[in-house]
Amino acid sequence: MHRGYPVVESPETGRERLVVLGSGWGAVSVLKTLERGAYDVTVVSPDNYFIFTPLLPSATVGTVEFRSVLEGIRRITKRVGGAYVEATAVDVDLEDKYVLVEHAGAGRVWLPYDRLVVGVGAQSITHGATGLEYCHKLKTILDARSIRQHIMANFERVMLPTTSDDEKRRLLTFVVCGGGPTGCEFAAELHDLLAEDLRHYFPQSVHDMVRVVIIQSRDHILNMMDSVIGEFAEREFARRKIEVITNARVQAVTDTMLRYTTRAADGTVVEHELPQGFVLWSTGVALTPFTQLLCDRLPAQRNRRAITVDAHLRVKGVADGSVYALGDCATVEFPQLLENIGELFDSAHGADTTEISRAEFTAFVRRAAAQYPSAASHLQSLELNYDLFDTNANGSIDRSEFRRMLEFVDSKLTALPALAQVANQEGVYLGHALNATAVLHAGPLPTEDDASTTRRLRMAHAVAATPFSYHHRGTLAYLGRAAAADFGEGTTYKGSNLAAKYLWRSVYWSQQVSLRTRFLLSMDWCKELLFGRDLSKF
Ligand SMILES: Cc1cc2nc3c(=O)[nH]c(=O)nc-3n(C[C@H](O)[C@H](O)[C@H](O)COP(=O)(O)OP(=O)(O)OC[C@H]3O[C@@H](n4cnc5c(N)ncnc54)[C@H](O)[C@@H]3O)c2cc1C
Repeated sequence: MHRGYPVVESPETGRERLVVLGSGWGAVSVLKTLERGAYDVTVVSPDNYFIFTPLLPSATVGTVEFRSVLEGIRRITKRVGGAYVEATAVDVDLEDKYVLVEHAGAGRVWLPYDRLVVGVGAQSITHGATGLEYCHKLKTILDARSIRQHIMANFERVMLPTTSDDEKRRLLTFVVCGGGPTGCEFAAELHDLLAEDLRHYFPQSVHDMVRVVIIQSRDHILNMMDSVIGEFAEREFARRKIEVITNARVQAVTDTMLRYTTRAADGTVVEHELPQGFVLWSTGVALTPFTQLLCDRLPAQRNRRAITVDAHLRVKGVADGSVYALGDCATVEFPQLLENIGELFDSAHGADTTEISRAEFTAFVRRAAAQYPSAASHLQSLELNYDLFDTNANGSIDRSEFRRMLEFVDSKLTALPALAQVANQEGVYLGHALNATAVLHAGPLPTEDDASTTRRLRMAHAVAATPFSYHHRGTLAYLGRAAAADFGEGTTYKGSNLAAKYLWRSVYWSQQVSLRTRFLLSMDWCKELLFGRDLSKF
């Protein structure tokens, strides 16, 4: 027993025990990268499946089936010879290295670990609004199912002879709180359902009453993407009669009403009431009860929205570096170059001067980019803008000009967005780092000669010592027979035709984690094309 709960005994295998919390993008990418036999792996998650979240909005309206966006976690853990425990992590003892897990109805047990990976995702921020119990979330398959049922239930109620016109209008007002990718993609999918299927089976008078409204707190939707994409999305939505209300804050939701405020041009706050029949709450990320508890245990954790990790994804404040966090629940604190200005400046200029020549600067950028991979592209942009930073135009960089350069680079190292590709890249990185750590932990192998051992350990050391760096490969958004992508640095794609829709689908098809889901998705999309979406409510 440990602090009132039983401890799970694990057999002695000589390998470290790795406990992975979660079965989402981050955790699964770790599991897919880990080498079999490197650790004794245990995965803990309340969901025994991985969800391909970018296609979850499609599942809410029946464009794809629920099972087509899921992959069983046991298939994934089997690859590394790991065990899966269907439970939720509720507490952690960082000193004795136990994590307390709970299975509703079966009680709590402590799982011992040598290394712990926290990939439990996040929950939506409430922004102080009340009545969120009347709102849908869109995180799990059960959420998608209950959204699908709610939409169809509203349409069926509208057709009852006893439903008044006012009630019909209310039931057919679908509100999305949050104009990020999830909210916008859900609105787009809902519009597709209305335009492509429901209009064939419900009278035009019903169709005319439908409203899809997005309420966004910022001045544009999709504000995490390039501003031209937000503006393009707003134009596309206006064409499809999806209403977008910007600079608005939701105050309260009841079972039939939504109250929000906007700010008039003279700064006065105006209150609005919107009768609604459905609300989706899809705002930014916040700590879950478990990650909040973990942060409360560590004085070094000061961020209120995520666990702070270093560039090796180690949780800040855990002295022995045995706890890692990744994905939506974590924020990476990249090393600031300005903190090392003295060392960097001295390494850049020649011994006989205190200024950096252009050739010396080029060599410096190459070295620094390897040392600070997360800052590599910004360091390279300094090279292109060398003359701009050389404010006294003497052809070389002095210390104050160098300081401005480093300030510029540091300002670009912002928090990474809560995206599947961030969680995925972090997971792949951590998987490789853990493989390397296992090699170092195991030490020389009896079957190896000295030279091979040295080479293998040196390589493992290099991998373990390399910090994480993120490479943005583009963010996609589906906008209902239109799609947009932001590849960063001002490069965007906008398409408002069927080709854009199929391009968007083909990208996600190619990113599937298994052949099975590729096959199922292909079938779903063919079915939808030939027979339309299934409108049954079950
Ligand atoms: C509807 C939707 C659409 C999206 N579309 C896109 C998109 O198009 N492109 C994109 O890049 N990103 C998209 N995202 C964001 C992306 O899904 C997230 O950034 C990503 O899922 C984060 O991965 P994660 O592993 O951190 O968390 P998650 O994928 O959320 O996984 C968290 C896991 O932890 C488990 N868990 C939770 N609490 C505990 C606990 N206490 N103990 C153990 N396990 C626990 C959960 O069951 C889950 O398995 C979308 C998100 C949603 C919800």
